[in-house]
Amino acid sequence: MTRRFALIIDPVDASEERAEYADTFTVVDAAAPALSVGELSTQRGDGVFESIGVINGHAQEVVPHLERLAHSAQLCDLPVPNLEQWRHAILVAAAECPPGEAVIKLILSRGVEHGPTPTAWVTAAPASDFSVVRETGVRVVTLDRGYDLTAAERAPWLLLGAKTLSYAVNMAALREAHRRGADDAIFLSTDGFVLEAPTASLILRFGDRFVTPAPSGGILHGTTQLSVYEYLSGHGFEVGYERIPASDLARADAAWLVSSVRLAAPITAIDATSLSVDQVLTPALNQYLLSPRD
Ligand code: PLP
Repeated sequence: MTRRFALIIDPVDASEERAEYADTFTVVDAAAPALSVGELSTQRGDGVFESIGVINGHAQEVVPHLERLAHSAQLCDLPVPNLEQWRHAILVAAAECPPGEAVIKLILSRGVEHGPTPTAWVTAAPASDFSVVRETGVRVVTLDRGYDLTAAERAPWLLLGAKTLSYAVNMAALREAHRRGADDAIFLSTDGFVLEAPTASLILRFGDRFVTPAPSGGILHGTTQLSVYEYLSGHGFEVGYERIPASDLARADAAWLVSSVRLAAPITAIDATSLSVDQVLTPALNQYLLSPRD
C-alpha cells in the first residue's frame, strides 16, 4: 500500500481559527504524476518535512511533529502552516495505513518558482521491518559535521535545527559509515561535542542518569527522544540536556539512537569501543514507543 495525499496550504497565519480550510486537500494516486516540473524549490531541497510513525492506524506524537514542522517553516521563512489542516490530513492518511507499522511523511516546499503559495503534500506507506535492529542494535562511527556549536547562532542561513528537505549530506554520512564497516553515524561538532545521528537523536546512559545533546547546538529536537524522556522520568530516572564532549562517548554504560520509525536502536559500538546492550531497558523502551501516544 502506498497512497499520497495532496494538500492545498493556506499561507495565512495558522494562529487564527481556520477550520474552514481543515479539509481542503485532494487525495491523489501515489503512482501517478502529481507535482509540476516547475516545482523548483522541491528540486533544490528548499522546504521542510516530517516523518511520523504510525502503529495500527494511530499516528504517533502528532503534536510534537506539527510543532517541529512549524518551527522548521519559521526558520526557512515559509508561511506559517495551517496546523489544523495538517492534523486533519494526518488523520485521513493514518486511516489508510494497514495494521502494523507505517510511516506518514509531511512535505512543505516553497512551491513553484514565483508561485503564490507553497506546495504541500502527505504520503503514507508501510514502514520497513526494524524489529531485528531494535534488539541487536547498530555499530556507529563518529563523523565530523564540519561546524562548531556556535554555527547555528552565527550563521542562521545554514538552517541548522530545521528539518529541511536537503538530506543529501545526511545520506552521504550514512554511506561513509557503511564504508567504514558501521551501520550508522554520530556527528561531532568541530569543537569536539556530540550532535546527533543523520536520521536519529542520541541518548546516553551513565548509571541512572540519561543525557542527550542540548538541541540549542543546531540539531533537531527529536520527538522520540522527548517520548523516551517522558518514559524515563516516569520511571524515576534522571534525564538532562547537556553539552557532551566526544570523549564522554566511550564512558557511557549504554546508548541508543532514537527516531520516529526505527524507534530505539541500541548502540553496540562507537568507533573502536564496544558497548553492551541494556537488555532490560531496550525492549521496555521499544514496547513503550510502540504503544499509542499523542
Ligand atoms: N535528528 C535528525 C537529523 C533526524 O533526521 C531525525 C529524524 O529523522 C531525528 C534527529 C529524530 O527525530 P524524531 O525522533 O522526531 O524522528
